Amino acid sequence: MCDCKNVKIGSYDNQIELKIPNNIKLEYNNPKKEKRETVCIDKCLVDEIKYLWNIGIRTTGCCCGHNIQQGYIGVIDKDISQMKNLGYTVAHNTCRPNDEDSFVPKKYNGNNKMRWSNGLPNNDKSLKAR
Ligand SMILES: [Zn+2]
Repeated sequence: MCDCKNVKIGSYDNQIELKIPNNIKLEYNNPKKEKRETVCIDKCLVDEIKYLWNIGIRTTGCCCGHNIQQGYIGVIDKDISQMKNLGYTVAHNTCRPNDEDSFVPKKYNGNNKMRWSNGLPNNDKSLKAR
């Protein structure tokens, strides 16, 4: 369960705009591949997205699910294997059943759940390895 109350799917009510850190290059998914300076993220996932950026994961989009549907974190194809190494579970999209570029946010993934403090998970060994 996430922190949303009465937030509709597709709504931007519970989002904040984050500046993308310099170590991450996120591009618009359009022919010009413009570089993004900021991105809007569901508040519930801000800590987890910051953590992923911090270790170099390039996200393509995310949604916390607003307590209505399964949330997901999308990443570029090149970062799929790293997400799996981090213990993330693929969130299969029924429209694209062969794609594995979306993952269940750890924040809401049952046994695999991270506890968060100060914007970083405090029980993730992969972070200490770096
Ligand atoms: Zn939420």
